[in-house]
Amino acid sequence: MFDCVVVGSGFSGAVLAERIANARRKRVLMVEKRPHLGGNCADERHSTGILVHKYGPHIFHTDNKRAFDYVSRFTEWIPYQHKVLAYVDGNTIPLPFNLNSLEMLFPRDLARRIELKLLARFSYGTRVSVQDLLREDDEDLRMLANYVFEKIFKNYTLKQWDLPPDQLSGEVMARVPIVVGKDNRYFQDRYQGVPAEGYSAVFGRMLNNPRIHILLNTDARSILNFDLESGKTFVFGQEFRGLVFYTGALDDLFDRVYGPLQYRSLDLRFETLEVAHFQEVATVNYPNDYSFTRITEFKHIHPFETNRTVILKEYPKARETEADVPYYPVLSVQEVDKHRKYIELTKRFPNLVPLGRLAEFKYYDMDDAIERALTVFEEVLM
Ligand code: FAD
Ligand code: UDP
Repeated sequence: MFDCVVVGSGFSGAVLAERIANARRKRVLMVEKRPHLGGNCADERHSTGILVHKYGPHIFHTDNKRAFDYVSRFTEWIPYQHKVLAYVDGNTIPLPFNLNSLEMLFPRDLARRIELKLLARFSYGTRVSVQDLLREDDEDLRMLANYVFEKIFKNYTLKQWDLPPDQLSGEVMARVPIVVGKDNRYFQDRYQGVPAEGYSAVFGRMLNNPRIHILLNTDARSILNFDLESGKTFVFGQEFRGLVFYTGALDDLFDRVYGPLQYRSLDLRFETLEVAHFQEVATVNYPNDYSFTRITEFKHIHPFETNRTVILKEYPKARETEADVPYYPVLSVQEVDKHRKYIELTKRFPNLVPLGRLAEFKYYDMDDAIERALTVFEEVLM
């Protein structure tokens, strides 16, 4: 009936299914446990008319032309440059922390002195991680790094991950560098925007193919079985020798034999407000105040004429039950090690290909997930 199974309809699974069906003209069974396509990128029109991202703000940004060109086959773009402010000691300052943020928070003479030192040490526009800046010899630069670490990273990271920054892979905080320049945009990538009709429309177009059969509201474990003894795979109770691309969490697949893999989940609380605008930019981060990490106002991302507005507060939490959506792999030494053991288990099944942010336990952005899926397609199916 079908040649391959794809578990999960986020970008990782959707790219694979689309390529297999269109480029290889093979039949795909796609299994998705949620009632909709798109994984965490899904969006929908709110009753106010505003397009909202169901699982937190998603901005497409990349320097990867192949990933950008791929998605562009399924959508027009609204050019959009993401702006983020951080609420620090009563001020809202541009994030990533840059020379403008410095001028807003520090007395003028001190700000000027640090700025000159930064420009003497780094060329204009350099992006340096707070951890690297903490290792600088110059006392003023270290003082700046300490300040930014204390005011912007330490408490936000504790809230988001329930771990202090030094227990997480350096790549996590390096995502938000200190910028030796005055560019207030959150991302500096060459291609930035949001799909003109939203992400869910993109997934609908990618997967609209008679060779792709989609089962929504279906947990793969109800139709798929991996027998650890024999290394055989069963689909609907029958042995299946085709490829199975799995983009969910690996501990779910193997009954947590090595214990649960830690992912951070979120309590996402949307509010509709009877005002035209709530905040100046799309996202305001609250490193030190409140128990949510950030507030996003969707109107800034997808402009829409109405006197009302929709905001989203993100409250981080542990993934305690399967009802808690796994959003972020916790990149601590212990969890990465545990994940490696699960990957070893997958190798008992010659036809099982784990991929994506959850199965590979990687902090993939959308472009990374797309690039990885295109590469896997080439490696495994070309
Ligand atoms: P997912 O989107 O998680 O998809 C996995 C799918 O598998 C899900 O639909 C899930 O329901 C399904 N599944 C899992 N287990 C099973 C099972 N047993 N049976 C059936 N189905 C199953 N990236 C950016 O580029 N820009 C951003 O601005 C950005 N913002 C983000 C904000 C937040 C709050 C989060 C959490 C992520 C953000 N990302 C952003 C990252 C982006 O969401 C991911 O890169 C992308 O979703 C990864 O796609 P994926 O297919 O690997 O995983
Ligand atoms: N971070 C922080 N303070 C901020 C923004 C980010 O400490 O104001 C740290 C935090 O550890 C966060 C990580 O940098 O989890 C990555 O931030 P990013 O904005 O990329 O997170 P995402 O959009 O993926 O949730």
